[in-house]
Amino acid sequence: MHILVSNDDGYNARGLEALVESLRGLAEITVVAPEVNHSGASNSLTLSRPLAVRHAPNGFIYVNGTPSDCVHVALTGLLDRRPDLVVSGINNGANMGDDTLYSGTVAAAAEGYLFGIPAIAFSLVARGWNHLDGAVAAAHQLVAHQLKQPVGSPVLLNVNFPDVSGPLIKGMRCTRLGKRHPSQPVVRSATPYGETVYWIGPAGAARDASVGTDFDAIEQGYVSVTPLRLDLTHQEQLTSIADWMSPLCNT
Ligand code: MN
Repeated sequence: MHILVSNDDGYNARGLEALVESLRGLAEITVVAPEVNHSGASNSLTLSRPLAVRHAPNGFIYVNGTPSDCVHVALTGLLDRRPDLVVSGINNGANMGDDTLYSGTVAAAAEGYLFGIPAIAFSLVARGWNHLDGAVAAAHQLVAHQLKQPVGSPVLLNVNFPDVSGPLIKGMRCTRLGKRHPSQPVVRSATPYGETVYWIGPAGAARDASVGTDFDAIEQGYVSVTPLRLDLTHQEQLTSIADWMSPLCNT
């Protein structure tokens, strides 16, 4: 068995190191991760310049690109055989609800999924790496289960861990994505040269955190596991939009 591991926090991140250590007994591990933090990179690929691939003393491979670049380059140029699984994380912070659209952690896993490889994204909901122990143990359990008993169809799982120590995790729940309020306002500040600059504000509070959502599972102290898909077609609107367009289509 062979697992490709990436993340979006960069190859020096504690969550990546801890995840890799926990998976070592399960499979051969190859790490290809970004050189620096690319949180919020979504599925971006670097097309404006070539990418450098370098080896760290601990064996990790790092790329001066995005999370998607890392997995893409690994699968199309670095690995001599296809991995059995792509995992990403453990991210420093939550990736729930609408966060998943912006997340580089989810994107790294999604890149594997787009190549037809089962993929799992892992995130610890609170920043600061408190309670990494429980997250690591649960990630190990999930990966071991997938390797032993693979899901029958192509799968992209988005996993979030609650911010509690291992023994206080109540278990795992299969969830749907909740929704957030729009982000908080941008934060203005001034440079020493008098220019006004803007920091993107933090994510908003949960708007749909009802029973069955990732937000609810986390709030209750469970590990949240959401199966994702990447087909953005709005199936329910196909008919109404076709009707709306009909005057244009018949000319
Ligand atoms: Mn991140």
